[in-house]
Amino acid sequence: VTLAVAGVQGLSPYQPGKPVATLERELGITQAVKLASNENPLGPSPLAVEAGRAALADAHVYPDGNGFELKARLAERHGVTPEQITLGNGSNEVLELVARTWLAPGRAAVFSAHAFAVYPLVTQAVDAEARVAAALPADHPEQPFGHDLDAMQARVDGDVRVVFVANPNNPTGTWLDAAALEAFVAAMPVTTVVVIDEAYFEYVEEAEYPDTTQWLDRYPNLIVTRTFSKIQGLAGLRLGYAVSSPAIADLLNRVRQPFNVNAIAQAAGLAALDDHEHVEKSVAINREGVRQVSAALRELGLRVIPSVGNFVTFDTGRDPGPVYDAMLRDGVITRPVENYGLPGHLRVTVSTRADNDRFLAALKKALA
Ligand code: PMP
Repeated sequence: VTLAVAGVQGLSPYQPGKPVATLERELGITQAVKLASNENPLGPSPLAVEAGRAALADAHVYPDGNGFELKARLAERHGVTPEQITLGNGSNEVLELVARTWLAPGRAAVFSAHAFAVYPLVTQAVDAEARVAAALPADHPEQPFGHDLDAMQARVDGDVRVVFVANPNNPTGTWLDAAALEAFVAAMPVTTVVVIDEAYFEYVEEAEYPDTTQWLDRYPNLIVTRTFSKIQGLAGLRLGYAVSSPAIADLLNRVRQPFNVNAIAQAAGLAALDDHEHVEKSVAINREGVRQVSAALRELGLRVIPSVGNFVTFDTGRDPGPVYDAMLRDGVITRPVENYGLPGHLRVTVSTRADNDRFLAALKKALA
């Protein structure tokens, strides 16, 4: 067999975890709770479900390849023009489009250690260099394992065509404030595309947390990505988007598959944008849940990375494998994050109080 390009040889496949039903069957348990993929415990908005169901009746017709209505609505939301929106099959696809548009052998992408796993994936898949900047130290008072923007900037040279910044980052839950992040963006060469990944944007309630879609007039090399997978509870439909200058969107659009976003996702996504109540409820439950879970973990004497997302990553202080397995046997599915360079750590998605209680009980038992 011919070897794949070097970058692909160096990749390990993304580990998405088993479906809940499969696990239940394998373990002989019922009602497992999946807290492994940062999904919305409230599910999708009923408005989205209804719109998606209606769209299914036209499943014989190709979707709108330009996403006309959804792009118009998103443009209005962000105060930009529809020509500045690029829709993706999840924001992951947008990240991949960025890599396919600007990266190639001889070119490099910079991102932080412990950053979202898809950045190295899309970079190495096109045989570009994945250049990892050291993160902030484990004992940093506010942002342990967070992005170190100075370290990232120091790694940028003429080969670097893309920089990926997750704000907040998964799996650390750390975040960057407006002043620091804007200084970083301003310092980037105009030939380097800066991707700010805001998958968890709606959950963040810090006063200094920026909405970087408002910076696009100032920085023609900026791309902001968002998703319907988290706060909108539509992860299963795969819908995300980029907001950028029209010139950048034009390039992404050349690379994009003609019908990359399916009709059900487009219809459901559009309807979801009307359900402000669902979003507010999701934010409120998450706020309570992050407090509950973080406090309980600290009470157990565990080190918790302060999170502004819908998940909490903590140090089990031991090999996390047996802890993970023991919780699994209790029907609680979490996520080991050793592959993110966080040995000893587990990540848990914050859910309803009942689910959080169940996780905490299973963890106590596993650690005992
Ligand atoms: N960025 C970050 C930081 C994420 O955690 C995720 C989801 N795991 C994504 C992007 C991708 O989300 P999706 O492809 O579902 O839009």
